[in-house]
Amino acid sequence: MPAQYGIIGWPLGHSKSPLLHNWGLRTSGLPGKYEAWPTEPKKLKAFMAEVRARRIKGVSVTIPHKQAVIAYLDGLTERATRVGAVNTLFWAGGKLLGDNTDVAGIVVPLAPYREGLASALVLGAGGAARAACAALQELGLAEIAVTNRTAAKAQALARDFGIQAVDWEERATRPWSLVLNTTPLGMKGEHQGLSPWPADGFAHVGLVFDLVYNPVRTALLEDAKNAGVQVLSGLQMFLQQGLAQFEIWTGIKLDEKGARQLLMMDLLATGG
Ligand code: NAP
Repeated sequence: MPAQYGIIGWPLGHSKSPLLHNWGLRTSGLPGKYEAWPTEPKKLKAFMAEVRARRIKGVSVTIPHKQAVIAYLDGLTERATRVGAVNTLFWAGGKLLGDNTDVAGIVVPLAPYREGLASALVLGAGGAARAACAALQELGLAEIAVTNRTAAKAQALARDFGIQAVDWEERATRPWSLVLNTTPLGMKGEHQGLSPWPADGFAHVGLVFDLVYNPVRTALLEDAKNAGVQVLSGLQMFLQQGLAQFEIWTGIKLDEKGARQLLMMDLLATGG
């Protein structure tokens, strides 16, 4: 039987989505499988025709297709519209729609901390930063700001969301209840061991959320913990965006604890 679910991206690298969703299908006793479909940008149109022809049930979408894929859909959810990007394709009433579960991936882990969050600074101004801004607005934070190595991109994002842009060099000079990293600094590979925040700059930071999840313990999170600051790992986001996708496709809420353990064990086994 052809796969009924999968992920498209280019290059796809070592996505953990097949691990999570195949575990979900197995433990729920559902048929089908979830595959990795590396898809070059020039092949996106043909791929989308195949999704319709084969009635593929669910697709996860990652870089660089999160915006380009919108042209091939029949509509977007309200969250995907707000972000301006899609990470999940699903069928509803015969229509192929796009959602963005990256927002839930950020809202759900932050919800228990909500009361203590007055201000937040988003580091980076790419796709994940857009999901972060939508999530922080959904949580109703009074003050949201963005900062980026390339100032013009932070300013453009700030305009889109009606928030402030802060100069990259000034990022650690003001108090923030939340600092949320959406840059790849700290990620396995060329950025491992790097941090987007000065190690001596945590005196007026309440909580740090690093969207990088491989490795689980990034330089940013280690520095924050050493300074006595509370931390959230990108693994929480990966887990919640994946659980939300599985529920959209199947209506089933997977066991969160089991899914977290599965991902944690895999990341530790692969050096994360
Ligand atoms: P993106 O669209 O390529 O944006 C990357 C951002 O990081 C840009 O603003 C870029 O700044 C900045 N940046 C890149 N290299 C930098 C450096 N050396 N120093 C300072 N800033 C730098 O990527 P994205 O889709 O937003 O994803 C970003 C990261 O989020 C990924 O690497 C991934 O770790 C994480 N993520 C995690 C999850 C999860 O489930 N946990 C989901 C999605 C993404 P410029 O504008 O100056 O280039």
